[in-house]
Amino acid sequence: MANLFDRARDVIPGGVNSPVRAYGSVGGDPRFLASASGPHVTDTAGRRYVDLVMSWGPGLLGHAHPEVVEAVTAAARRGLSFGAPTEAEIELAEAIGDRVPPAEKVRLVSTGTEATMTAIRLARGATGRDLVVKFAGCYHGHVDALLAEAGSGVATLSLPGSSGVTAATAAETVVVPYNDVAAVEQVFAERGSEIAAVITEAAPANMGVVPPEPGFNAALRRITAEHGALLILDEVLTGFRVGPSGWWGLDGAATRSRAEPSATGAGPWTPDLVTFGKVVGGGMPLAALGGRAEVMDLLAPSGPVYQAGTLSGNPLATAAGLATLRLADDGVYAHVDHVADTVAGAAHEALDGAGVPHRVQRAGNLFSVMFGEAAARDGVRDYAGAQGQETFRYPPFFHAMLEAGVALPPSVFEAWFLSAAHDDAAVEAILDALPGAARAAAA
Ligand code: PLP
Repeated sequence: MANLFDRARDVIPGGVNSPVRAYGSVGGDPRFLASASGPHVTDTAGRRYVDLVMSWGPGLLGHAHPEVVEAVTAAARRGLSFGAPTEAEIELAEAIGDRVPPAEKVRLVSTGTEATMTAIRLARGATGRDLVVKFAGCYHGHVDALLAEAGSGVATLSLPGSSGVTAATAAETVVVPYNDVAAVEQVFAERGSEIAAVITEAAPANMGVVPPEPGFNAALRRITAEHGALLILDEVLTGFRVGPSGWWGLDGAATRSRAEPSATGAGPWTPDLVTFGKVVGGGMPLAALGGRAEVMDLLAPSGPVYQAGTLSGNPLATAAGLATLRLADDGVYAHVDHVADTVAGAAHEALDGAGVPHRVQRAGNLFSVMFGEAAARDGVRDYAGAQGQETFRYPPFFHAMLEAGVALPPSVFEAWFLSAAHDDAAVEAILDALPGAARAAAA
């Protein structure tokens, strides 16, 4: 493994093609993977792990689900890429819109980064304004304008943003603390007429899991509407994972009557634009931007906002996405919710048992552990709180789990991902590993 990492570092910057994979914040050399199936990944040394990364989210059904693999294989036999419209693209756009009605029209792209990049260009085109408001600790991909105080790898590496982003671009992004409605109100009071959009993770999971407080997303909807700005709901990570209609289905869905408020205490609300990725591509490079038809129609060729992609709507990726959404029925979500309850509960018990101050934070079936007295006492509601936790407890916890055959995300700022393939045996292996890891975190 060390040999492979040395070889990789000779030809690939940092030895990896996405920073968090390098184990920088947990130490040691990354495992090089050879294969994955169901709830497991297997490294090049032949060691098998129960996986709680699931490719950072796409693996809702488990790795290499046979029906998804079959759909991709069948599509491959028909041709790898056409660069021309296909019927499957219509079917996927329809499937997305059926599950998330605010996505009246859908444009398929290849990565979540492209989806959010296109969303802010579209918001600027639609409003004629330049500013974008984002939240500290939220990650929306490596778009120049959205790297300021970003979560995920940017948080893992403790970076304020990225070198190479021009001052002019940075000046067009206003960063606000998460879960702080008053701060958003204030920014709009000062600069409302310049703001094209607010972009927010539907439920943040890139600074660890920090759920929106009841009514927070609804307040963003209200404030943006009052000022003629768009609300971009980033469901790249949560979409089709926390439920069939993503976080919006649990929080904003208009299917609930106004007399019966949603689970978060607010009435129904609808974003203007929604970004999807990860699960929607079923493990293949596919993401999407959806939204109100009149806004989406501003995209080329029907409108003046340019966006394009050689591999957009690629037939293999589209086949994987369609098969995944078809298979992701209520039973899948019930199972993932159930195993998330079990594993989150066991992590809490193990850490409690070892006397490690912590809080397990949840957003639907997503969760992560925040370490430290302050997190245990008050919970974490923003990026400052997530950064202030006892991050030093995570590397020993992570490595003890790895030694015991369970692969956690190699950063405390990432969510743990479960899947429909995490069966009793896989869950048992996780539960067996937790007490030892908790003792390691206590040291
Ligand atoms: N938005 C969110 C909420 C994400 O979690 C991510 C990736 O982790 C992205 C956007 C970027 O997606 P991608 O890595 O496919 O570019």
